[in-house]
Formats: sequence, C-alpha cells, structure tokens
Amino acid sequence: MKKRIIVIEDEPSILDNILYSLESDGFDVCGCATGGEGEQEFLTHGADLIVMDVGLPDTSGFELCPRIRQSSDVPVIFLTARAEEVDRIVGLEMGADDYMVKPFSPRELSARVRAVLRRYRPDQGQAGAGESSTATEAVGRGIPGFPFQIDEERVKVTYFDQLLSLSSTEFRLLRILCKHPGRVYSRSQLMDIAWSEPDAAMERTVDAHIKSLRGKMRAVRGDVDAIETHRGMGYSLKEKWRRKDSVERSQDSVDRIQNLGE
Ligand code: CA
Repeated sequence: MKKRIIVIEDEPSILDNILYSLESDGFDVCGCATGGEGEQEFLTHGADLIVMDVGLPDTSGFELCPRIRQSSDVPVIFLTARAEEVDRIVGLEMGADDYMVKPFSPRELSARVRAVLRRYRPDQGQAGAGESSTATEAVGRGIPGFPFQIDEERVKVTYFDQLLSLSSTEFRLLRILCKHPGRVYSRSQLMDIAWSEPDAAMERTVDAHIKSLRGKMRAVRGDVDAIETHRGMGYSLKEKWRRKDSVERSQDSVDRIQNLGE
C-alpha cells in the first residue's frame, strides 16, 4: 500500500519538482497550491503525511498546521524560505515534525519524508494491518499515581485520563521519558533517539518540543510539572507522583542523577 503525501506549495516549479521526486520514490502524491485546497484535500481523502509551505497565498503553515492538528496527528513537514532559527522553532512549536529550508534538493525532502514516516509508525510495512502486538504500553509500573498511559498502536498518550494532542516527535520524546521516569537524558541523547538524522536537528529544537509538550500538559494540570529540567544536563520525567519516596527501580539507579532540578 503506497503512502499518500499531500504537498501544499504555491510555487509551481517547486511543487512539480517535489511531486516528481516523491512519486519516483514510490509515494502516492497530491499537489495543492493553496492552504484551503490542501486542507480540503486532507479532510476529504486523508494522507499519511503533509508537506506544507509556510508562506501560502491564502494562509500560513503556522495557522494551517494547528488547525489540522485539532483533528489529526498526521505528520507535517514545513517548507520555509526563511532560514532564521526563530522560524524553525516557531514551526516546531506549531506542531510540525520536521522542516526544510529553501532551497533544498527534492531528494533530501524525500529522505526526510521517509524518516518522519518511519518514526511515526516504526512497525508499519512489516506486518499486516492490526498485527501489532503492543496495545497500551505499561509505563510507570510500580510508581503510585503515575498519570501517563501510552497507546503505541494508536500513537496516543493520556495524561490524568485526558488525551494529549501530540505531534509524532512529541510522542516519541514523551514515550522515551515515560519509559524510565527519573532517568536524565541529555539533549543529544534525546535527539539521537527522536530524530533519525541528529545532525539536522539542534539541541534547541528539543527545547522547543519540550516547551510545547509542557504547554499541553499544563493545559490538563496547571499545578503539575511532569517534565523536570536538569540544568546543563537535559530532561527527565517526574518520578515521584504521590509519595515522597516512591518505589526505587534498581536498574535505573545507575543512570539517575540525583539532587538536580528539584
Ligand atoms: Ca510560498
């Protein structure tokens, strides 16, 4: 089954190049010249991934992406003509999974598309539909009051029984943190795990994703900080949820760095 990619780009020559390259790579493609057309196409026929220019004639990718995200966690890659880092970070905060700065080679975009699809559903393409054995993953076992539940199959996370609306990168980051509460991960470790091309990402993009994750969790519980910052080190998921001293997980204790960030 071919993956379906919607490409929203108003520059005809760029659009043609992208469509040609993705099609040669075996994707089913659909090109749209405006945000409205792209949104309609997605709502009507769906897609496995959307490539979206930030500067569109009728809207901007920064407005369109959150709108699509209200109803779907489809992966999004932004195309931007502006190389300033601020745009990249804003883009990632708007829920994009990756971005490409123009000019870029269509071949490189194809590689990013494959990488994003791979990390979005790593098991796909091997087993038949519905074959995945993992459903809700047991995380935080032995930690009283642990508020996260992860559904690997549906790529969903609930936090205090509320569904978080996450981009696929945010999902991967949170899943990593949830697997070992209390364990500190450096930004570069998180990049290695969450991005297949770590050189292309920068540490500050991790900060941007973490900031976005925190905002979503604060909307559920404003009084709780689920992700702790360890200055100069990185991030960890809050380990103690109800009692001061919760169950120690001996296998993690080597990795745990205590007395930081509290
Ligand atoms: Ca444009």
